[in-house]
Amino acid sequence: MSKVKEADCLPKEKAACGECGQNGRRESDGSPEELLSVRERALAIVSRLEEVYPEAKCSLSYSEPYQLLIATRLSAQCTDARVNTVTPELFARFPSLEALADAELSVVEEIIKPCGLFRTKAKSIVGLCRELISRYGGEVPDSMEELLTLPGIGRKTANLILGDVFGRPAVVCDTHCMRICERLGLSAGRDAYKVELRLREVLPMDRASDFCHRLVMFGRQTCTARKPVCGSCPLSDLCEKAGSEG
Ligand code: SF4
Repeated sequence: MSKVKEADCLPKEKAACGECGQNGRRESDGSPEELLSVRERALAIVSRLEEVYPEAKCSLSYSEPYQLLIATRLSAQCTDARVNTVTPELFARFPSLEALADAELSVVEEIIKPCGLFRTKAKSIVGLCRELISRYGGEVPDSMEELLTLPGIGRKTANLILGDVFGRPAVVCDTHCMRICERLGLSAGRDAYKVELRLREVLPMDRASDFCHRLVMFGRQTCTARKPVCGSCPLSDLCEKAGSEG
């Protein structure tokens, strides 16, 4: 996507609501009619982003399912780009789940240091590998309930695994997803669990996992946290906050 100059942005005044004429977003009334109209808009948004980003891809590099679990654990309070500079060395030095389960913590710590919180993460990664071996026969489990029993794994990671590895309906509710979906008026608030449940209601779930990957690209390029470029946004006609953020 081309870079947009600041002058392309819309004014910062709040957009007027088409129904009541007031500034800001219309509150959700939770009625079946409201849900239907949000679902229709969600479908249009999903389709539009599929056109803009034909390829939906996880930004973490991995080749085995357990490596995605580890990369995700490393990405806590760290960028995916930095994680991707560390994991090649980690997976080359410990080329199997068993090797990583037997790894000396100090060696793992040294390799993953650039990702921050390296002592906690090293302990968690080695512990995770041991649990996968002792409780799941060395396989990554394919249910939300089982994934959540693994050390350091929350719903966001579990959804990522279910969607990317097993092709299941999943909503990866990260910071991009919550920010953008709130601006679009698909969800409200930043409680990840509530947002996930809401999005499960309104999104076409067979396309939701890829949609979340697209939101990451869209959130980095257009609907950024600090200064969304609404003036050239491909979703501006579908967005409740067009021109009012940033
Ligand atoms: S119109 Fe603006 S706030 Fe809405 S999705 Fe686009 S960039 Fe984000």
